[in-house]
Formats: sequence, structure tokens, C-alpha cells
Amino acid sequence: MVHYKARPTSRRELANIAHKLRRLLCVEQDLYFPIIEFIELVLPKIDKEFDLEIVESSELPPNTYALTYPDDKIIKIRSDVYYGACANQGRARFTIAHELCHYLLHDEENISFARSKSDIPKYMDPEWQANTFAAELLAPGYLIKGMNVEDITKNCSISYQCAHIQENTYR
Ligand SMILES: [Zn+2]
Repeated sequence: MVHYKARPTSRRELANIAHKLRRLLCVEQDLYFPIIEFIELVLPKIDKEFDLEIVESSELPPNTYALTYPDDKIIKIRSDVYYGACANQGRARFTIAHELCHYLLHDEENISFARSKSDIPKYMDPEWQANTFAAELLAPGYLIKGMNVEDITKNCSISYQCAHIQENTYR
């Protein structure tokens, strides 16, 4: 099994990148982040090569919600996940924000191979980075500080699990 490691990136750096994207959309103070509008309308404008593909599950490996090829400039999203995100399902929104992180940060230049999983500290694990970025984009610490998990879940349109982690991080 191949293990990947990414350039070291802290939660704070990931939160800063997420904040810049929110500034681009003028939604710095909004609890709700419009992830679908971002990848469909904004990202193609700032990155002319970006290609979003909505695909059937047969076009992805089993149990895969989405796949990103940063060097080929492609994000593929399984159609049920895409429509779920359009319908504001928290997990689907999170999946797309997670893939967005892979797209922005994990091109060949920033990714290398690791001999074993235990060689990878979490801040160099691309999956940890993508999950942390997604949480910081959809429920930024500076906005959710002091809120309870139910309110974060509802207002940010994220899963209870993700809201719980953010609440725990910023309480
Ligand atoms: Zn991932």
C-alpha cells in the first residue's frame, strides 16, 4: 500500500487559506458557506483549467464519493454526493470541501511517498489536512467559538460529527 505525505501544514495555515476563499466570496461573516456555488461559479473563474465532473458511481472505485486529480485539474464527484450537497446535506458538503483542499494543496510538487503510515505526522497527512481544511471552511473557528454543537450543525449545514470536532477545538 502506498502512503502519501504532504508539505507540513498546520490547522492555522489551513484556516488561513479557508479564510481567503471566504473573503473572495465576501462571506467572511456568514456561518453558511456556499460550497457548490464556489466550485461551480467561482473556482472556474479564478482557475480557467479547472474541470468539475459529476460522475456515476461506476466511474469511481467502489465506496468512493469523489476523486481529485490536482495535476490534471479535475475534481470528480459522484452524482448522489453532488445532489446531496445541492440539497445541503452536511456530509456531502464536507466531501466537496475536502476534495477542494486536495485540489488546492496536493499537486505533485507538494506530495511525496512515505514508507509507512507511522512515518507521517498528522500535519503532513493529506487526509488530515483535507478534513481540517473542510471543517475550517464550512465552520471557521472565529465564527463558531462559543456556539453549541446543535447550532453549529444547523447554521453551517455540516454533520453533527464535524460540528462536534469544531466545537471541541474552539470552545
Ligand atoms: Zn481525501
